[in-house]
Amino acid sequence: MSALMVSVTPLELPLVHPFKIARGEETVARTALVRVRAGDLEGLGEAAPTERYGESVESVIDYFATHAPATSDPYRLEALLHAGIPAAARGGLDLALHDLIGKDLGKPLYELFGLDPALTPVTSFTIGIADPETTLRKVAEVGDHPILKVKLGSGTPREQIETIGLIRERYHGTIRIDANEGWDVETAVRILKELERFEIEFCEQPVPAGHPEQLRAIRQRVSIPIVTDEDSLVAGDLPRLYGCVDGVNVKLAKTGGLRGALAMIHTARAMGLKIMLGCMVESAVCATAAAHISPLVDWADIDGPFLTAGDPFTGVTYDRGKLILPDAPGLGVHETVPA
Ligand SMILES: [Mg+2]
Repeated sequence: MSALMVSVTPLELPLVHPFKIARGEETVARTALVRVRAGDLEGLGEAAPTERYGESVESVIDYFATHAPATSDPYRLEALLHAGIPAAARGGLDLALHDLIGKDLGKPLYELFGLDPALTPVTSFTIGIADPETTLRKVAEVGDHPILKVKLGSGTPREQIETIGLIRERYHGTIRIDANEGWDVETAVRILKELERFEIEFCEQPVPAGHPEQLRAIRQRVSIPIVTDEDSLVAGDLPRLYGCVDGVNVKLAKTGGLRGALAMIHTARAMGLKIMLGCMVESAVCATAAAHISPLVDWADIDGPFLTAGDPFTGVTYDRGKLILPDAPGLGVHETVPA
């Protein structure tokens, strides 16, 4: 086989609304498209690096500018996706290689993984942090979407409780919340105890990562299930969370692609944990890749394509939030406007 060529181009995605979470706000999402070419075949991937994990679009570009693929055989995934590659870059390459292999074999990814496309979950739609009026306008825009994920972790406890109360008055679907490390144990317990009456499905990452015993303490005092995101990047992070949490959020940008995500999903299953498959604010490339393995998980938060405007790609679609997988070979993602 001829040499594997890897190329990276930045992608800027303007957001429908400014996206605010406990640690900051953005109006544009920046990701990196990773293309891998072998002979006539091209695979497309996307890296969605985040500052929180010490990566950037520039660090992904730099990595591929200075490192050639380990082998020219695109099927040698174990060698090509070695642990020495930073997670975001490895994730982009992992997606591109899986897309290329699927195209080579003429099979959609879910079929390569042996999964039933009818078993995809329903995704939540994320509501970022905003003043009450803006929040309620966003909830109204969402309409009858069956699951909301509401970002908390900023403002006074009273304001945060009131935000959920206001949403619950108008919205009868499932509500999950995400504090993005914004609370300490006492604040978390105080807020979550008050939120119990609003039927919250679970709370994601109440306290800063690195303190499993704090998660255990919260879990013992409140009835809302606790799920980690910033505390659980890869499969190897899970054993120390045993007994401390009810579930984990798996994201391709953290695991370094599909292979790492599968390892994390199977590890979490073995530990009896619930599993959410999440995404960063990213294009349909990453979202579609995650959607292909979503029949393995309990919960999905794959709403990147709802949050961005002008995404040049189409892939996964939604039927009242249920993920509908494309059945074209590989990722099944198409570019809708010229790059
Ligand atoms: Mg989260």
